[in-house]
Amino acid sequence: MSEIAVTRSPLVVVISGPSGVGKSTVVDHLFGRIEGMRRSISVTTRRPRGGERDGDAYYFVSVDEFERRRNEGELLEWAEVHGNLYGTPARFVDEELGKGTGVILEIDVQGGVSVKEKRPEAVLVFLLPPTIAELERRLRGRGTDTKEIIARRLANARRELEYYTRYDYAVVNDTVGTAVEDIVNIVRAESLRLSRTAIDIAY
Ligand code: ADP
Ligand code: 5GP
Repeated sequence: MSEIAVTRSPLVVVISGPSGVGKSTVVDHLFGRIEGMRRSISVTTRRPRGGERDGDAYYFVSVDEFERRRNEGELLEWAEVHGNLYGTPARFVDEELGKGTGVILEIDVQGGVSVKEKRPEAVLVFLLPPTIAELERRLRGRGTDTKEIIARRLANARRELEYYTRYDYAVVNDTVGTAVEDIVNIVRAESLRLSRTAIDIAY
């Protein structure tokens, strides 16, 4: 009898899109649907919103501490977004990939482009709102930001939308269910690529 051993390399998946499009919501739901992947927790200088705990969605640090980490090469990528600094700890990504676990990065468009430059095999997914009016409605409806912050994020949204051309996939977040399903399909197909697969056939 011959044997066939198939081994897959873990994926780095980047999810980006304008503020309020539903990235966190979609990624939260994604984890009920895929196995063998973990979510990276970013470092940020943004103040915690009501109810946000350190180490949950973010590690909240001072600007000095952020700059120290950045200067010491601890960040896979970093960017200034809506007036605050955000970055992805490199060690978590390397350790998870080393264990064979994939990583999902929910980061802004500048960060997505940086990751692709450093790791061309990363899969970049751009989340689009069904309409601009709906994006505005979601940003305002979230109820976590002041009027000034919402206005700033809306002004940035148009610029962020233009980055979709740098991404591998475009998913419309019309309903959470269909957006999650689309991303599950992307992850499944991408992990089956021959370029990520080692096949050993023993006759
Ligand atoms: P982001 O992480 O992109 O900034 P959030 O996940 O915080 O966005 O979502 C912004 C708001 O939109 C939240 O109130 C969320 O519940 C809502 N939302 C997300 N996805 C959808 C959707 N498909 N349909 C309707 N509302 C949504
Ligand atoms: P928020 O303040 O709403 O949580 O996030 C604001 C923006 O920063 C979002 O577009 C989010 O995806 C992005 N972001 C979060 N973490 C990172 C990160 O580590 N790097 C980059 N480049 N962007 C991030």
